[in-house]
Amino acid sequence: MNNNKNNKKPIIYYYAIILAIVMFLNAFVFPQINSKNITEVDYGTFLDKVENGSVKTVEVQDNKIAFIVTDEKGKEKIYVTGKMDDPDLINRLYSKKGIVFSQVVPKENSPLANLITSWIIPIAIFFGLGHILTNSMSKRMGGRMTSFGKSTAKVYVEDQTGKTFSDVAGQDEAKEALGEIIDFLHNPAKFKEIGATMPKGALLVGPPGTGKTLLAKAVAGEAKVPFFSISGSEFVEMFVGMGAARVRDLFKQAQEKAPCIVFIDEIDTIGKKRDSGGLAGNDEREQTLNQLLTEMDGFSGEKGVVILAATNRPDSLDKALLRPGRFDRRIPVELPDLVGREAILKVHAKNIKIDSNVDFNSIARATSGASGAELANIINEAALRAVRCGRSYVIQSDLEESVEVVIAGYQRKGAVISPKEKEVIAYHEIGHAIVAAKQTDSAPVHKITIVPRTSGALGYTMQVAEKESVLMTKEEAFNKIVTYTGGRAAEELVFGTITSGAANDIEQATKLARMMVTRLGMSKNFDMMALETVTNQYLGGDMSLICSAETASKIDEEILEIIKTAHGKAIEILKENIDKLHELSRYLVERETITGDEFMRVLTS
Ligand code: ADP
Ligand code: MG
Ligand code: ZN
Repeated sequence: MNNNKNNKKPIIYYYAIILAIVMFLNAFVFPQINSKNITEVDYGTFLDKVENGSVKTVEVQDNKIAFIVTDEKGKEKIYVTGKMDDPDLINRLYSKKGIVFSQVVPKENSPLANLITSWIIPIAIFFGLGHILTNSMSKRMGGRMTSFGKSTAKVYVEDQTGKTFSDVAGQDEAKEALGEIIDFLHNPAKFKEIGATMPKGALLVGPPGTGKTLLAKAVAGEAKVPFFSISGSEFVEMFVGMGAARVRDLFKQAQEKAPCIVFIDEIDTIGKKRDSGGLAGNDEREQTLNQLLTEMDGFSGEKGVVILAATNRPDSLDKALLRPGRFDRRIPVELPDLVGREAILKVHAKNIKIDSNVDFNSIARATSGASGAELANIINEAALRAVRCGRSYVIQSDLEESVEVVIAGYQRKGAVISPKEKEVIAYHEIGHAIVAAKQTDSAPVHKITIVPRTSGALGYTMQVAEKESVLMTKEEAFNKIVTYTGGRAAEELVFGTITSGAANDIEQATKLARMMVTRLGMSKNFDMMALETVTNQYLGGDMSLICSAETASKIDEEILEIIKTAHGKAIEILKENIDKLHELSRYLVERETITGDEFMRVLTS
């Protein structure tokens, strides 16, 4: 094990630098301070100087004589000479009056003492200083650097996570898949008896904020076993060689504490495909990954160590990680559906004071596509708003407002919008709403507002689906595009001019039309031919074309045709309902925010 060596490397560098400085000072700076100017002369010169009376002080050493001579100007100078076998010398010096016997040159030290004073003591001082510095530094950094120079890499251990499955709402399939692991951790012997080998690792896969970390903790909590966790990004942020050492240490500690859970968050940061890209610094990552693979192969699952890992980009993982005997179980953790969202809202509402007749279902319906983390955030924003408004508990409107905060950004207080602009925005939004409502397959509006948001949206028509649907028909897709064009259509129809307010609508409409043509097989010319593929499906979903340039231009033509037809249809709908458009727009300018019910009442009256 070269654990120690690996870990100490960085600190050794610092000491080496300090040592170099000490040597430099010793060799070039101190000698000039230490040695006074001493001239060496022969014995005859010494005797001459004694005779002519210029010698004032003499020191007789073992094999040398040092003496001080004062010249005419009274300036003192030190001389040394070799000691001759001259028994008469002392008497001769005594006979000369005024010569003092005293120390002239500082005693020359023994080689050992010399070594100690000029090497060992300074080095000891610097090592001591260095040690004190690292200690105080690591204290300031909350103990994070204790791993520095010691063999123990930092892992986070929780003896009890304090989380259970009741903290995780929805995600029933994931819970079921993890149930077996909990069983195993409870009683490894039972599995061993039958001869079943447990999977060593399970990979939690899903978009950010869906509760992967939470689930891993809940598994440890349910099984009442210690929870070792480390995040993939931490493996690579430290010094070279640390990552592999940490992996080793993590597994060593886990083996000692078995049964337990080892959780590696964001495993994609170290588990990326090894052949992809030749960026500098990959070596470190690769080394860490290799160590992880080695450790996973090296330990037997019998002891009851289960490795969980989480990622939101499973497609980028190295195939070696997904091989049987490693992370061979894959547990999808998807965005919550309507029921799941309602459950998540309720779980988080338990932590705050909330009005008893709050309608969670309507909030859940308004937050289609939100992740668990976003829903938790909505509850928290609602509580903050309640405090701001001086209430002691959260009410429905707090929740409704915070949905918009999380979805559309904070209300832009004090933003100045001219009455004319306000009118245009109102017509634009009502345009969307009428077009949506007049198409049978479109979802009815829930709320229309022209209160601007910090996100940049000037107004906003919120549509809420009655029920969750997983399939979209071609008609529904087209009708959606018609609705997107409804805002601009109203502006054209009423003001005879167009504004920049439709930028987002244009983007959305184009995206959907493109999707219909390239991926959903809803086009005239391409039948069921796939023209685009998705990469990174959990992170935004980047699209890449898989067709010739010729086809690409045909795709563009089709997209244009779809949007043009939709735009025409929107104008037709609004022309037929021009009175309602005026009436509703005036109403919205007055109120700024109207509900779906109000809207429908006016529209159908
Ligand atoms: P991930 O690791 O998938 O990115 P997290 O587990 O860190 O997501 O979730 C972030 C937070 O979101 C959690 O701490 C929790 O408060 C909330 N959350 C996410 N999903 C759920 C869920 N299914 N039930 C309850 N809370 C959830
Ligand atoms: Mg996480
Ligand atoms: Zn619009």
